Amino acid sequence: MAGKRVEKYERGTRSYIMSHIRGENTSIETLVRSFLFAKGLRFRKNDKRYPGHPDVVLPKYHTVVFVNGCFWHMHEGCTKHSMPKSNVEFWSAKLVRNRERDIKQHAELEAMGWKVIVVWECELGKKVREERLERLYREIVGNAVDPDDGAVDTERENPDV
Ligand SMILES: [Zn+2]
Repeated sequence: MAGKRVEKYERGTRSYIMSHIRGENTSIETLVRSFLFAKGLRFRKNDKRYPGHPDVVLPKYHTVVFVNGCFWHMHEGCTKHSMPKSNVEFWSAKLVRNRERDIKQHAELEAMGWKVIVVWECELGKKVREERLERLYREIVGNAVDPDDGAVDTERENPDV
């Protein structure tokens, strides 16, 4: 545990933003929204007009973002997703249904012209969230900014957005 952080970052910088979205009781959805908002993006939340009620809808970028819990959405190969030991049939049926619904809804959104981005709970752990959120931002705003999808340059900024 780092001690209580003293306000030492310049407002608007990456460090400032990250220091303000680390509340212990912050849900993963709120974490993602706070970050995007601090980066200057404006969006709608849980818009009921779209399949799956995406957590973040960014009309300007034709992009929707789902922030998914690894258990409920059956994140494949993820250590946070493991089937409960009791009521296995109940749980596997339920979770498989969730996943199938996700797949269907994402396909519907894509057919409507939306780019669909999923951010997983495990990608928002303390040690990895900053990198993931910066990458999410670039995925949203920078179609041409980062053609090499795998390479992450965390220092890159987008001053003209
Ligand atoms: Zn996961």
